[in-house]
Amino acid sequence: MTPTITEVTAARLRRPEVLGRTAPATVSWDLTGMMHPLSSDSAFAGQASRFEPSWDEVLCVVAASDGSFGVGMTCHAGPVVPIVNDFFGPMIVGESTLATERLWNMMSRSANSAFGAAGLAAYALSAVDLALWDLKGKILDRPVYELVGGPARERTRCYATGNDLDDARRRGFDAFKLAGSVGPGSTTAGITETERLVANARAELGADADLMLDCWSTLDASYTVRLGEALASYRLTWIEDYAPPDDWPGFADVRRRLPTQMLAAGERWLSDRAFAYAAQHRLVDVLQPDIQWVGGATAALRIAAIAAASGIELALHAGCNDSYGQHLSHALPQNRWAEMYVGCPPGESLMNAWRSTPGMSLPDDGWLVPSGAPGFGIELTRDQIGEATS
Ligand SMILES: [Mg+2]
Repeated sequence: MTPTITEVTAARLRRPEVLGRTAPATVSWDLTGMMHPLSSDSAFAGQASRFEPSWDEVLCVVAASDGSFGVGMTCHAGPVVPIVNDFFGPMIVGESTLATERLWNMMSRSANSAFGAAGLAAYALSAVDLALWDLKGKILDRPVYELVGGPARERTRCYATGNDLDDARRRGFDAFKLAGSVGPGSTTAGITETERLVANARAELGADADLMLDCWSTLDASYTVRLGEALASYRLTWIEDYAPPDDWPGFADVRRRLPTQMLAAGERWLSDRAFAYAAQHRLVDVLQPDIQWVGGATAALRIAAIAAASGIELALHAGCNDSYGQHLSHALPQNRWAEMYVGCPPGESLMNAWRSTPGMSLPDDGWLVPSGAPGFGIELTRDQIGEATS
């Protein structure tokens, strides 16, 4: 008999060291000096931390009538924890543990009616859905990458995100993504500075290395076009997140005016419908959902189907940084890359890169093979989860 859901509990991650993170997370590009939502206005230069929420990560447990449990994670604990504990949790207790599509549909449609499914609710939905998939894997005693039809290959290629190319190369990566440093407030000087960053990287890496540029959704369409024209000769694999996430005419404008440049976006699109729209209108070449933000593995699978049916590439945001992204990146044929955001000091273990959990695989010489343990292979007991959240 299929176990039923007996408990859904989300809590703020107060003690990340319980998860095996031995150093405080620091970023390899300096947030205080670089791009943020207001960086187009020089009056806000150096104030990135002012625009970052201070809420912690979330640990979500879904427990079953057979005594097993699954673990999901997301961020923005402040508003997300009550959405899980007061709204989604009571809604799905008593339901079948394995009915992930039915449960996702219940949670998504009810949130959309009550307060919108494509905002903070998408983070809460992600935490519950990821816990349910972890639980399904434990109940069926298989890794999630098999449950969703993988693995797609023996190992999955990774790329490193961060501006310390020497550190990334020492870690074995041979593909890289840079963060641009200035927005349209810097006009021509900004383009010159970003061109210098890309030119130096290209000279250091050689003509054939895969090199991408992330713009953190801080630009607008016309500046992106000027930037793309200036960078054309550097053969960027893609330019990412140039327009604000809801600037649909801007995405269309950039697509039309940079017809041959590979374009990528999606980490800030918080519903499968945004991806369906982007694919329908051919706005980008690469879809980049974040599995902890967009609605979990169920949403990521829907978006993977959209990508495959549309002939568009998939590249999960931060797909190498947590077990959830690792399993889906490894399982889905249309996902060529697993992104490792290197958010820790040079030489520091990648367990401190960003949002890692115990039992998680780390890339070896730039290639990933996820843990084959049941579920997502997250090695945490209920006691340890209690300790981490108290
Ligand atoms: Mg990005």
